[in-house]
Amino acid sequence: MTIHRFVRRLGFLAAFSLALMAAATPAGAAPLKVVTTTEDLAALVREVGGDRVAVESIARGYQDPHFVEAKPSFILKLNRAELLVVVGRELEVGWLPPLITQSRNSKIHPGAAGYLDASAGMRILDIPTGQITRAMGDVHPQGNPHYWTDPGNGRRIAQAMQRKLAALHPADEAYFGQRYADFDRRLAAAEKRWDAAMAPFRGTKVVTYHRSWTNFTDRFGLDVIGYVEPRPGIPPSPSHTLELMKEMKRVGVKVLLVEPYFDLKTPNSIARETGSKVVVLPPSVGGVPAAKDYIALFDHLVGLMSAALGAR
Ligand SMILES: [Zn+2]
Repeated sequence: MTIHRFVRRLGFLAAFSLALMAAATPAGAAPLKVVTTTEDLAALVREVGGDRVAVESIARGYQDPHFVEAKPSFILKLNRAELLVVVGRELEVGWLPPLITQSRNSKIHPGAAGYLDASAGMRILDIPTGQITRAMGDVHPQGNPHYWTDPGNGRRIAQAMQRKLAALHPADEAYFGQRYADFDRRLAAAEKRWDAAMAPFRGTKVVTYHRSWTNFTDRFGLDVIGYVEPRPGIPPSPSHTLELMKEMKRVGVKVLLVEPYFDLKTPNSIARETGSKVVVLPPSVGGVPAAKDYIALFDHLVGLMSAALGAR
């Protein structure tokens, strides 16, 4: 072998081993085991974490995230998790704390490095002022926990994921940074599309069942004049429904948004009485098959909303 060929071969071997290193996860590192409470958070972890994370969500996107029935399999998932990501603002307060305790996994307890409350640093609306009483409703005492329905908050969540994943797996910091940048670019392009589609409907008055859409309607300039629930988490009452219908007729509300997990009996009778239309709108990834990731969720929502509002 000539020196020249030997050097070339060395170069080839070095390139080959570099390629191998790039293809594999860093030395000895298996994908980071991440559990999220909702499919929205799982989708955003996947955007940033790529193949360096193995993500599972506890709640399904078609379930009411305030009320999730605990299953033994959830405890097992949490027991093995290296990172737990929660929506926070008490969204999961009714079902998550006992699961964390029973998981016997100190890595994912609140305050530990493997626990991330995604609501920190988000734009949170409906923050209650004054004294909070049970009469104000059961489920939104720390502001509106459905903040992921604003794509701006989706970007902030992805950024928080990037920081947390890099802290837990410093060897992959550049990889997470590059994936975040790619998501940010695709989200920005999608936002232009959504803003254009929703622009003709700014100021349109709508009614929603639960206060799931505060961030979405704020972002796209819709005007929510009332809710089917008298207070967040409190089922509709006849007197509240009558008041709501009176107001809907007075201001001419044509669209009533309902999350997929609520009974349609009251919304349908309100729609009949007021000449409005019920639109079932999933607030989460996985709520319908088309909403397969975070950007696809908003494509679906904006498509349904502009069809419903445009057909008035
Ligand atoms: Zn809620």
